Amino acid sequence: MAQTLSQEALGWAARDTSAVFSPFHFSRRATGAEDVSIKILFCGICHTDLHNAKNDFGQTTYPVVPGHEIAGIVSEVGSKIENLFKKGDRVGVGCMVGSCNAPTCEPCNQGSENYCPNIILTYNGVYHDGTPTFGGYSNIIVVNYRFVVRFPENLAMDAGAPLLCAGITIYSPMKYYGMTEAAQGKHLGVVGLGGVGHVAVKFGKALGMKVTVISTSSHKEREAKELLGADDFLVSKDHRQMQEAAKSLDYIIDTASAEHPIDPLLNLLKLNGKLVFVGAPIKPLQLPILPLLFGRKMIGGSLIGGMKETQEMLDFCGEHNITCEIEKISIDYLNTAMKRLQSSDVKYRFVIDIAGTLK
Ligand code: NAP
Ligand code: ZN
Repeated sequence: MAQTLSQEALGWAARDTSAVFSPFHFSRRATGAEDVSIKILFCGICHTDLHNAKNDFGQTTYPVVPGHEIAGIVSEVGSKIENLFKKGDRVGVGCMVGSCNAPTCEPCNQGSENYCPNIILTYNGVYHDGTPTFGGYSNIIVVNYRFVVRFPENLAMDAGAPLLCAGITIYSPMKYYGMTEAAQGKHLGVVGLGGVGHVAVKFGKALGMKVTVISTSSHKEREAKELLGADDFLVSKDHRQMQEAAKSLDYIIDTASAEHPIDPLLNLLKLNGKLVFVGAPIKPLQLPILPLLFGRKMIGGSLIGGMKETQEMLDFCGEHNITCEIEKISIDYLNTAMKRLQSSDVKYRFVIDIAGTLK
């Protein structure tokens, strides 16, 4: 049956590759039988939002309302799921709002909806009903209940919001690539100390690992150690430092948002070491093969995580009291925040105070 009812929504959209944001009125579908309507309180600004606003991946449909680190309060619950959610629940929405969920879909069936070929992204996607999806830089969102997770009681929703993308982006590969097993005493390297990278440091420490940050920004060293608990800090452009640390790391998670050489990173890995990319540089990186052979090293990648795993990640953060280091901003500051994000000038995640400032 065609959806006739809708709800008025207000967001901020980029209209073209200049990535300048301005207010945008649009509609959301009415709460369906299996939907949860959410009043958005906070939304983190992920570098992927900036990539998409600029059309870095060549896949942006304008106007685009980004935002996939959404924290809010349930405002309405669909008739079929009243036993699962209630008005006032503290919930989160991450990078996806739909998948095919077909019995024949291997990723969907193994709880990896994030790898479903028909994944529906929270923004810049097309929903089952043919309408474009709009993200969390907006006042309300309507989401199928399978893509809504619950915030643990003890986690603040502003500093917790970035976990919905940055958190799961780290947690999922840590599990898949075996970093969480016998983690105590293992040595993790984190490339890029931005929004995603700073979460990697926190998770690594919570798991009992030794953590070394590998950064282009020497000025981040003190805070990396004193605030985030990193054990060591390497400036990636300092060849001597990088040489001295050769063969010291079991794992590296690379979160850098732009091109950089891989060879020096492979040199940091021990025998059987793993280098996992989660950052999304636009241009291809050069991959030297011999360092992989000499040392049986492995390179992999990872994209966010499944819904069950996302809830597990939030519960892990609840148990370990982990939230993000954020700079809370008003929506009016969005364009300035994007410029600062572009130049790596944020400690460590901008979070928009949606309910407080988007009127
Ligand atoms: P961010 O806050 O901007 O952090 C990125 C960091 O990368 C910067 O702080 C900087 O750290 C480092 N960097 C920037 N330019 C660099 C260069 N030319 N060479 C080496 N390092 C550089 O961004 P983010 O939100 O953490 O996202 C990071 C990347 O992950 C983005 O590409 C984003 O699209 C991607 N991402 C992927 C997933 C996924 O599921 N795989 C999920 C979320 C985000 P230093 O100053 O310490 O060098
Ligand atoms: Zn993201």
